[in-house]
Amino acid sequence: MKQKIALLGSTGSIGCQTLDIVRRRPEEFEVTTLTAENRWEKLAEQAKEFKPDSVVIANEKHYKALSEALSNEPIKVYAGAAALEQVVAGGEVDTVVNALVGYAGMLPSLAAVKASKRLALANKESLVVAGNLIMSEAAKRNLPILPIDSEHSAIFQCLAGEVSAPRRVIVTASGGPFLRTPAEKLDKVTVAEALAHPNWSMGAKITIDSSTLVNKGFEVIEAHWLFGLRPDQIDVLVHPQSIVHSMVEFDDGAIKAQLGTPDMHLPIQYALRFPERGELGEDRLDFLKHPTLTFEPVDGERFPLLATAYDCLRRGGNSCCVMNGSNEEAVAAFLAGRIKYTDIARVIIGALERVDFVANPTVEDYAATNEASRQIARQIIAKC
Ligand code: NAD
Ligand code: MG
Repeated sequence: MKQKIALLGSTGSIGCQTLDIVRRRPEEFEVTTLTAENRWEKLAEQAKEFKPDSVVIANEKHYKALSEALSNEPIKVYAGAAALEQVVAGGEVDTVVNALVGYAGMLPSLAAVKASKRLALANKESLVVAGNLIMSEAAKRNLPILPIDSEHSAIFQCLAGEVSAPRRVIVTASGGPFLRTPAEKLDKVTVAEALAHPNWSMGAKITIDSSTLVNKGFEVIEAHWLFGLRPDQIDVLVHPQSIVHSMVEFDDGAIKAQLGTPDMHLPIQYALRFPERGELGEDRLDFLKHPTLTFEPVDGERFPLLATAYDCLRRGGNSCCVMNGSNEEAVAAFLAGRIKYTDIARVIIGALERVDFVANPTVEDYAATNEASRQIARQIIAKC
């Protein structure tokens, strides 16, 4: 039986790389649903190649164009955010690959878990916003959540076969394009400079998040939920070569690491084929081409948002949701040239001071918090 995959965000960076894996193993995988937000032409092209049962275009204004492009195909065409939650729950779906970006991924993740689907998760924002809800729904059904994020895949791979709990994990960070940029130059960095990640090619939002280390902060929160670790059991080390994807330390002092070239195909395939591995056909790591692997601490002065993420995790409640929503607004404003790079931190810290704290948020509280955080972020942005 082929594994039937609903792929959310198929036109993005992770989405396209997931389709590379499916394309190489047609005897193993079949795509039942493909979705995109705006790029309907690309979605139509993917649908003609992979012949899913349905496609969803989240932005309803492209529904007509997409329907016309697929009028000769036996493919159902849906539009709107609610349709994402419906297609993941469909009876024919085995695995949901969530490669959406941002808050938009959270409700589809929750819907997938509630429908007892295997969730292969790239959308870290799902766990940043509502990790408690998603993990408790998964635990009720004894469902694993298969990480696609490379650091979490590395930790997951290091834990496979172990019966002892880890003492701590070390999440590695490339340090991004501004690793060596002096503090006084950060307020002048351009969008193009922030988008030029040294090692990884990714969507725009995560590339900016990598440069501010918000991405690393979100990965700390993600590790907390995925692996049940306290904040003090999760350390971050800058490793500019991006070869060691993360490490796990045990009580006896043993440290296991997963190494490889910086390429998301491996974690995507591992999540889809877990617990089996298989030929991948990508570049292999040659140690002699990378004879020096280095590690250094994060400079908290220049990258204050990593500590902000730890604070939010410790505070709990809706704090991480506030950080996420205000970050999304700030990153969009920076990408549109409306605020300076260093304003991103000001917007997030301002929103965290002003949005009401909710100790035990429900899904409705998260939606309200997300809205409030974005609104306050927009007010701060308008004054920047
Ligand atoms: P991307 O911007 O390249 O793609 C995002 C996809 O989501 C696109 O298909 C887009 O159409 C869709 N989308 C965006 N907003 C949407 C909305 N509001 N409603 C519905 N669909 C929407 O992003 P990406 O780089 O592929 O990242 C996807 C997720 O994976 C993010 O959460 C990111 O943090 C995580 N991730 C990415 C990488 C990477 O290498 N790209 C690595 C680790 C984790
Ligand atoms: Mg990562």
